[in-house]
Amino acid sequence: ACPKGPTVIWFRKSLRIHDNPTLQLATQLASQLYPLFILDPYYINPEKIGFQRFRFMLECMKDLDNSLRKYNSSLLVIYGEPVTVLENCYRTWNFSYLCFEKDTDIYSRNRDKKVLERMKELGVQCFLESGHTLYDLDVLVGWLNGKSPPTQMTSFLKLIEQVGPPPKPIEITCNIPPLTIDMIGSMKVSNVPEIHEIPGYEFIAVPTTCPFQGGESQALERMQQVVKREQGNWVVTFSKPNTSPTSLNPPSTTVLSPYIKCGALSVRLFFWELKKVEDCFSVKTKPPVSLIGQLYWREHFYLLGYTIPHFDRIQDNPLCKSIPWEYRQDWFQAWEEGQTGYPFIDAAMTQLKQWGWLHHLTRHVVACFLTRGDLWISWEKGKEVFEKYLIDGDWSINAANWMWLSCSAFFTRYFRVYSPVAFPKKYDPHGNFVRYFLPVLRNMPSKYIYEPWKAPLKVQKDANCILGKDYPFPIVNHEEMKKRNIQKMIQVFQNKSL
Ligand code: FAD
Repeated sequence: ACPKGPTVIWFRKSLRIHDNPTLQLATQLASQLYPLFILDPYYINPEKIGFQRFRFMLECMKDLDNSLRKYNSSLLVIYGEPVTVLENCYRTWNFSYLCFEKDTDIYSRNRDKKVLERMKELGVQCFLESGHTLYDLDVLVGWLNGKSPPTQMTSFLKLIEQVGPPPKPIEITCNIPPLTIDMIGSMKVSNVPEIHEIPGYEFIAVPTTCPFQGGESQALERMQQVVKREQGNWVVTFSKPNTSPTSLNPPSTTVLSPYIKCGALSVRLFFWELKKVEDCFSVKTKPPVSLIGQLYWREHFYLLGYTIPHFDRIQDNPLCKSIPWEYRQDWFQAWEEGQTGYPFIDAAMTQLKQWGWLHHLTRHVVACFLTRGDLWISWEKGKEVFEKYLIDGDWSINAANWMWLSCSAFFTRYFRVYSPVAFPKKYDPHGNFVRYFLPVLRNMPSKYIYEPWKAPLKVQKDANCILGKDYPFPIVNHEEMKKRNIQKMIQVFQNKSL
């Protein structure tokens, strides 16, 4: 047991009070507690983190700050490079302990290594807790017994069957000590800023309002709605492949991903709430299609991201097939900007920018289109775009799914290509999703909504949408590209150079 001393809790993810092992430990250690958030210039860059994603995170920080204020504390925000910020804090606050949550992506691990080294030199004791995944990933690695991590879901499920269920969430026992002005001293700190106060984000136009607001309170309320929906029936009948990518109000999945990503919702709490519902029913869907199954996908990809070198790129990544992708700037730009001439793709990319969230199958379709389906552009390029705009942008999950969709890892049925016309028609024959995100096509008759280039000129005129003027012609012929790319994939899979 350590004697009590001044303690810094460094929040990065885990922007919550509930089930937060790092916070619990910090409150036990602290004679005085400094809740800190560092705005790291590495991330704070509108080229890297888009408006919606940053806005959502700031809302989570604001909500955490509100909760801390109930204990007469608050979230101290400092802009700067983490090692330097923590050194400066140490000089002013002379803290004994630094607590933070384990992180798994490459940048964070390198950053934390440097922080740990510097803190050791300064005589500060550091404590790292696990809290962002169902299991402590080091525990799962231990269970691997030196073997490689499973790359298929069935083997992953076998692994966790051996390990047993994840730990239960911890009870809220935190008694957060107050924070006083005297304690802060000469250290320059600020409250949680508004997004337009952040350098680089001052003049960014606000994209159409996203329906999802960040914060632990929102997260808990949303989770309650999920578990209570249709008296639990919704949870126990949930089957991911049967959910619809074009339902908007309400979406056909939980939209808890952005909350889980920021740690505004504990994934363990969500797991055990789902388990409680499942235990009341004898018939229920099962992993990998059930809701608990979705959390296992997340866990699986986290474990892979943690253990496979260079998981976020092609080079030196032992899991990733090296496919000779090509690059055409104009095609890539058209895809990113929602100007491909395929309404479903363009509506989806508009949703990505305006909402920062897409249904899983919509992500499938646009990712397939960019890579092996149509444009034959590297998944690394697509992953960057998703990372920038998604409010749930998550390093390991994003990389894993992009590898999946591009047949670079996990999935090999390259002959299964999503049609940007036939696929959405199944779910939304009148194209309401397209009409919502692409008002230019609002009056296009349903018959042409996914293929407006086929509409006779008179129909285009009546719909107030002339192809080539108001809305682009398709940048490629899907059927031709599909055939050509399948041939390329055959070569790749037969290990022949192209
Ligand atoms: P639900 O279906 O309600 O699932 C509940 C939770 O399970 C999600 O909140 C999420 O935490 C987890 N989950 C669900 N599906 C997956 C999956 N396939 N892989 C891992 N975890 C999953 N998800 C992210 O959280 N961040 C990303 O950056 C991300 N990038 C993706 C990129 C591509 C190309 C694709 C195809 C998928 C990506 N996903 C990503 C996975 C998935 O699309 C989202 O997690 C899901 O759509 C989020 O919506 P939801 O919360 O309503 O999911």
